[in-house]
Amino acid sequence: MNKESHVGELLSGYVDSELTQQDSQRVRLHIEGCPTCTHDLEEIKLLRSNMGAARLSHVDDDIWRETMDDASVKATRGIGWLLLVGAALVAAGFVVYEVLTNFASWGLMEKLIVGGLYGGGLLLFVSVLRQRLIERKKDRYKDVEI
Ligand SMILES: [Zn+2]
Repeated sequence: MNKESHVGELLSGYVDSELTQQDSQRVRLHIEGCPTCTHDLEEIKLLRSNMGAARLSHVDDDIWRETMDDASVKATRGIGWLLLVGAALVAAGFVVYEVLTNFASWGLMEKLIVGGLYGGGLLLFVSVLRQRLIERKKDRYKDVEI
């Protein structure tokens, strides 16, 4: 085998599929009969796959996925709260508007129901808030003691 006809300089392009059909054919035919170039080709292929593995490191992939999950969970939760609070405000505003515009025309029963709903809701809210504040105070004292 004539050394001049070795395809060493074409092997890199061959692995990357960048050769013309003619060059690619020449490399394929040459490699079949040349252990030296076959060996070089295997080394280039190995180098390429190692580079690929380094680029798509599993650790990086996991961290990326974790970060994405964390961010999407936070975003979803944020949107959920936003929708909930927004809908509650709109509903409350609608009821207040209804009360202000139609209150005079309401019967006693309706006034009692709406008054009960609002009064009860307000009392529950205040009592829950008080409970929370008391618990928080207790927790703070506990932290101080420890
Ligand atoms: Zn060769």
